[in-house]
Amino acid sequence: MHYRFDIVIIGGGVVGSSIARELSRTTASVAVLERNPDVVDETSGRNSAVVHGGFAYDRGSLKAKLCVEGNRMMGALSEELGFPFVRCGKVLVGNTDEDLRTLENTIKQGYDNGASGLSLIDSAKLHELVPAVIGSFAMFSENSGILDPFLYTIHIAENAHENGVEYFLSHEVSSIAKKDGRHFISAGDDTFEADWVVNAAGLGAKAISDMLGIEGYKVIGSKGNYLVLDKTLGPLLPMPVYPVPSNTYMGIHVTPTVDGNVTVGPDAINTDDFSYYGVPADKMEYLRESASSLWPHINKKDVIRTFSGILPKWVDDNGKIQDFRIEIRDDIDSMAVNLIGIESPGLTAAVPISRMVFSMITERGQFQMKTDWNGHHDKPFRFSDADDKTLICSCENVTEEEIVRAIHNPLGVHTLSGIKYRTRAMMGRCQSGFCHMKIEHLIERKCGIRAEDVRYMRPGSWVLAGKMRECNGK
Ligand SMILES: Cc1cc2nc3c(=O)[nH]c(=O)nc-3n(C[C@H](O)[C@H](O)[C@H](O)COP(=O)(O)OP(=O)(O)OC[C@H]3O[C@@H](n4cnc5c(N)ncnc54)[C@H](O)[C@@H]3O)c2cc1C
Repeated sequence: MHYRFDIVIIGGGVVGSSIARELSRTTASVAVLERNPDVVDETSGRNSAVVHGGFAYDRGSLKAKLCVEGNRMMGALSEELGFPFVRCGKVLVGNTDEDLRTLENTIKQGYDNGASGLSLIDSAKLHELVPAVIGSFAMFSENSGILDPFLYTIHIAENAHENGVEYFLSHEVSSIAKKDGRHFISAGDDTFEADWVVNAAGLGAKAISDMLGIEGYKVIGSKGNYLVLDKTLGPLLPMPVYPVPSNTYMGIHVTPTVDGNVTVGPDAINTDDFSYYGVPADKMEYLRESASSLWPHINKKDVIRTFSGILPKWVDDNGKIQDFRIEIRDDIDSMAVNLIGIESPGLTAAVPISRMVFSMITERGQFQMKTDWNGHHDKPFRFSDADDKTLICSCENVTEEEIVRAIHNPLGVHTLSGIKYRTRAMMGRCQSGFCHMKIEHLIERKCGIRAEDVRYMRPGSWVLAGKMRECNGK
């Protein structure tokens, strides 16, 4: 098929979807091309889910500025878009004189960056905030928080869609041609003709940048592995606990999730493989040991799952990590916005990033603003909202009604992980052992998909390999 849009955004993660939502305020026709079957299958669904305060980034950097803005607006955004967010605060725990100096400098840097609510606290105050923490003193950031990274991204994407943006999932961009000032973008069997292109492809952004003719960027992957602890641990950890950071790495931390689990991680391992998310057993042990020096409650029996994410870090020729790059290269392509190196704090900064891209495009384009734009998204439909309380996932109390609603989601996502991220089914202690097949059958029945065609997540992640025997045509 041949499609024609004013603006095509490549990448449907939190950054691409935020840009789509901002642009949906205008009458421009906008499409998002996403290579995965959902918008949270890459980095936006694989992170610490911390809303950062903005103190850990170099003075004057875009990372600092956009993070501080993102932090300030997160409460209002969560109200508007109905995703869970808690401004719980966070501590960075120290023990030595050097730690103390680093934390004092971090506070100064934070205030210079425009952050607020930063202070040094003594051992008594630290233990009042986080009872079992191991440390002598800490920096307290009262405005840091945690959010649900799945619903945050999904609700932004769904709201963009409700305001007219078209999502093309499972559409991997393979080439971009330019003719008479227009772009012709190939994705699978389809071609998308567009005036504007926005490269928000995360780990794929360097490849898209090369396709646009903007060459020379060096992007390395930094893989972070995590453990997920059972919900019995959440009540023991009121806020994220971090070690003293370096300028480039926050360190292995323990973080409560908005649903009451605890995540432990990440380590940071350079990788060229941007699609391998497995967590090796030795890394699990390493995470447990490292984080146990901060918080004593990490026992093997409470680990219910592992996951990992990969940061796209733009580096210079000497390997030094660079700031976010958000540019229009007039010398190469004056109708392309190129985003490179959107690593942490990209989750916190996504909406300010999108507002920056919106200004860059609308300053040059002749787009009218809509009068009927609606930025509201309902809160997730949960157990208490369901009329019929037939349970499908009894670990997380998820009803059939919630699953069926999730199956009929606006973006048309039909993977098991898509249902999981929208409902929390399969996220509990049994990790889908009891509910997985029931959910698979519901997807089959409600969407008319054959059982062997249901996928867990990304291409190739089949749940069933095929039939064990034929039933004589019955
Ligand atoms: C371990 C880790 C911890 C983190 N912790 C935090 C944190 O606590 N707080 C915080 O603020 N930030 C954190 N971050 C950073 C944050 O998660 C990212 O900056 C943010 O999610 C980036 O969003 P994105 O939309 O740019 O990337 P993505 O979510 O990766 O979206 C890009 C999309 O582009 C698609 N794509 C790529 N190539 C193509 C192509 N050729 N065609 C079509 N589609 C394509 C991908 O499938 C992907 O869905 C963390 C990241 C990691 C890895």
